[in-house]
Amino acid sequence: MRVAVVTVGDELLAGDTVNTNATWLCERLTERGVGVERVTTVPDRVADIARVVNEYRAEYDAVVVTGGLGPTHDDVTMEGVAAAVGRSVEPHDEALEWLTTHGGYQAGDLVEGTTHLPSGAQMLPNTEGVAPGAVVESVYVLPGVPTEMKAMFESIAEEFSGELTYTAVVETPDPESSLIPVMSEVQSEFTVTVGSYPGDSVRLKLSGREEREVDAAAAWLRERVTPMDSDSEEE
Ligand code: ATP
Ligand code: MG
Repeated sequence: MRVAVVTVGDELLAGDTVNTNATWLCERLTERGVGVERVTTVPDRVADIARVVNEYRAEYDAVVVTGGLGPTHDDVTMEGVAAAVGRSVEPHDEALEWLTTHGGYQAGDLVEGTTHLPSGAQMLPNTEGVAPGAVVESVYVLPGVPTEMKAMFESIAEEFSGELTYTAVVETPDPESSLIPVMSEVQSEFTVTVGSYPGDSVRLKLSGREEREVDAAAAWLRERVTPMDSDSEEE
């Protein structure tokens, strides 16, 4: 399954808020075997949201959108998603019912627009907050507040799946350039892919569909690179 993530919010683009929702969603989706192929941040503008969501829903199996769900004038995500799927935004009976029965709200206390979802959408209750989420066609719309987003994602996590990937990490103080031959060799000897992440040391991340193959490749690699604490030892 291939998925795109869209995070909505001017504050993300201004650098006021760190986009932890994107990272968290990428991690959760990847560990379920889903291939996350795009992460895009768009401003709180209906046309921008609609354009990106429409493009991605045509390209990917699902689109996960977060942020901008509240009823205030700067929260326009539901309108953008509705426009992307060619629907209007309407008061949703089930959302009203959920908020008045489980949410502890009186219908009259809810800010106008709180229960507005794209017409015909499935409502996702917000167990940690107010604004409900929605599923419409293959677009999943979640809140921006991280605790609310996480709880809502967990309620639909089962809908996201794919072939599991196993990973192993081999860390070495060797310079990255010296690792190029051994990285290409391990990929021809084993059915794995290798990613290299330089920092103070280099982390070589091996991934593959077979756990035994990944472990064997990691063991093979460990024999051919300098191990981490070896600089304290005499060679
Ligand atoms: P509300 O109903 O409270 O308005 P919302 O679903 O409309 O919530 P936003 O208004 O977009 O969500 O954001 C609410 C708060 O959630 C922001 O102030 C920010 O702190 C946080 N937030 C939003 N998007 C993200 C994100 N991508 N990563 C981390 N935090 C985020
Ligand atoms: Mg908001």
